Amino acid sequence: MIQIDKLVRSKRKTLSLIVETDGTLTVRAPLRMKEADIRRFIEVKSNWIKRKQANVQKEAGAPRQYADGETFLYLGKEVPLRLVRDGKPALVIDGVFKLAKAAQPRAESVFKDWYKKQARTVLTERVEFYARKYGFKMERIRISSARTRWGSCSAKKTLSFTWRLVMAPLEVIDYVVVHELCHLKELNHSKTFWAQVESILADHKAYRKWLKQYGTKLNL
Ligand SMILES: [Zn+2]
Repeated sequence: MIQIDKLVRSKRKTLSLIVETDGTLTVRAPLRMKEADIRRFIEVKSNWIKRKQANVQKEAGAPRQYADGETFLYLGKEVPLRLVRDGKPALVIDGVFKLAKAAQPRAESVFKDWYKKQARTVLTERVEFYARKYGFKMERIRISSARTRWGSCSAKKTLSFTWRLVMAPLEVIDYVVVHELCHLKELNHSKTFWAQVESILADHKAYRKWLKQYGTKLNL
């Protein structure tokens, strides 16, 4: 049940819910609205309230609780978590993240494993798509856990990508993919290199900016 931290009645006509910056809930209600009606409205909005409260905690830098309503980024979208009684595998995505209650104590590693698996699938698919279309030849794809190094390309033609990248929108993933593929031909950041990136993705500057601005959010 959701706790009302502050109830303010006034001559207003509608009910409003405010999740304050400290995570407490303020409810503004019409003078004569029945307590039971307020409660009912709050229960209907409970998912929204929990999500807001979880996000406030996250902004404040609080460690993750892996609790109901907390959100996790996947392909640029904030996906809420729901704890379910039992589940195999322990974590699945189905509109929401469904995590088995029994797996909650090891939720961090369950999430990491899930992201790594998705990263391998999504990045392999995107690399193959661009390689085929633009005639790039690479040897293999490696998934790393780097925090800010989104991708790299070795002289042996191995492309590495951090699993955190699958938290970003697909356009941003594509930018990193194209960037590393272009390194197969130019192992530097010369004008020729950037011209090639631009010939494939005209908007590449916007995606670089996105990574600079939101890169730290690609994290558990
Ligand atoms: Zn580079």
